[in-house]
Amino acid sequence: MSVDHDLAALVREAQATGRIAGLPEQHFIDGRFTAAVNGARMETLDPGTGEAFASFAAGDAEDVDAAVRSAKAALRGPWRAMTPSQRGRLLSRIAEQIRANAHRLAVVETLDSGKRLSEAQGDVAGAANTFEYYAGACDKHQGDSIPLGPDHLAYTLNEPAGVTAHIVPWNYPLSTAARGIAPALAAGCTVVVKPAEQTPLTALMLAGLCAHASLPAGVCNIVTGTGKAAGAALVRHPGVQHISFTGSVATGIDVMQAAAPHITRLVLELGGKSPVVVLADADMDQAVEGVLDAIYENAGQICSAGSRLVIDRKIHQAFVARLVARVEAMTLAHGLRDTGMGPVSSGGHRDKIAGYVDRARERGVHVRTGGHARPDPLTDRGWFYEPTILDDVPAADEAVQEEIFGPVLCVQVFDDLEEATALANCTAYGLVAGVYTRDFSAAHRLARDIDAGQVFINEYFAGGIAVPFGGNKRSGFGREKGMEALRSYSRIKSVAARI
Ligand code: NAD
Repeated sequence: MSVDHDLAALVREAQATGRIAGLPEQHFIDGRFTAAVNGARMETLDPGTGEAFASFAAGDAEDVDAAVRSAKAALRGPWRAMTPSQRGRLLSRIAEQIRANAHRLAVVETLDSGKRLSEAQGDVAGAANTFEYYAGACDKHQGDSIPLGPDHLAYTLNEPAGVTAHIVPWNYPLSTAARGIAPALAAGCTVVVKPAEQTPLTALMLAGLCAHASLPAGVCNIVTGTGKAAGAALVRHPGVQHISFTGSVATGIDVMQAAAPHITRLVLELGGKSPVVVLADADMDQAVEGVLDAIYENAGQICSAGSRLVIDRKIHQAFVARLVARVEAMTLAHGLRDTGMGPVSSGGHRDKIAGYVDRARERGVHVRTGGHARPDPLTDRGWFYEPTILDDVPAADEAVQEEIFGPVLCVQVFDDLEEATALANCTAYGLVAGVYTRDFSAAHRLARDIDAGQVFINEYFAGGIAVPFGGNKRSGFGREKGMEALRSYSRIKSVAARI
């Protein structure tokens, strides 16, 4: 796995055969690829064609138990003996391995998730940056000394949280796995990852690359399978000390309940219905680009997608007309062709998106553009949904209130800043928000008053791994990314002594 492959050759292979040779097929437990105890298998489908292209182990509680036991044993092995700077060098080597295998990872991610190849390449580069960021942080994660006076000595130690469990969704399979594994390893934890059953492959490949970089056996384990059989067994396992869950609100509630009996700590990254507020003085070109990226990247399947445009009435008509013109020029294409917008993750998910738009249409909501499911126009296959704009939607409407998780933008119109803030905050979610304006004070008033974990001003998705990420309200709690994640995978021990 250490030599990269020619990108064009990989794309040709995938297009000609519908598959890629040599993909991982088993769990990764205790430093090696391992078959499921029950021998069961599942298939993973290419959303761009709707066809199966690989199979993987359908694990259950027995595999999870083996992985957690391995992770627990690894906490006491050579991993514990490593200095933080040695851990940092190891994480750097993992980043190098990711870069050396970037083409293969990106092509597999595109086949598995449907996303455009260039987006998958961005995710792979981001995963390498994530390991590099935490590589540099390992030996800087220091505690405090606490001044109690001349007769005492008091200090804090950052201890690893222990065995950490990572439940990963299908929309950003490699990035979300890397975003959990890297800070957990930097903190000295050992991990068990359960990727989404729709997209298990790149997490398995990443574990292979970690081993290639000499990560000790048992430090990083991957168990594939369904949420019901493998995910649920992992989050209720008594050997797990910390859970990082990224996924839907409904599953997040189940995970919280499963964590309760063992008092397992957890971070929940759940859904969003994030507003992009555009004031009348904004740079229009910048705002149009920002709004389009915010909703149509990854076909809108981003928890932090800007799925609501909250716009000043003074520019509403002109701005939406510009968006419509751009959207109507967008094509639908298989992710490997890397043009226009790719498919959504499954036929069922496409139908769910269509249901939201059809019901909105029946309620009299103005569908300005899009609004239909389509196959790939070139092959007549795959699960695509047109980029869609619903205009001037009332705040209480289902399409505004619920996460559609597809390429559907809801437009809401305001008359003053107070109303803009109220509309921005009008849902049960509070993940991120965007603001476009040249007015410094208005921008920072909105940043202060919008109830969200992250606010982007004049560049939606600004920042990278260094900026903490997570939600308020039903979007969850706790933060991933940045130094916050390193703290989250650590537990503090205070030591106070009389001397
Ligand atoms: P989902 O909750 O159905 O699945 C997410 C993961 O949880 C999968 O790996 C699944 O197998 C697993 N799972 C399912 N049931 C489980 C259980 N009982 N116990 C443990 N694990 C279980 O979510 P989805 O529909 O696949 O993903 C889309 C959702 O994820 C959206 O709501 C989106 O907003 C959210 N999401 C949030 C973020 C974020 O960072 N906030 C990022 C990406 C996706």
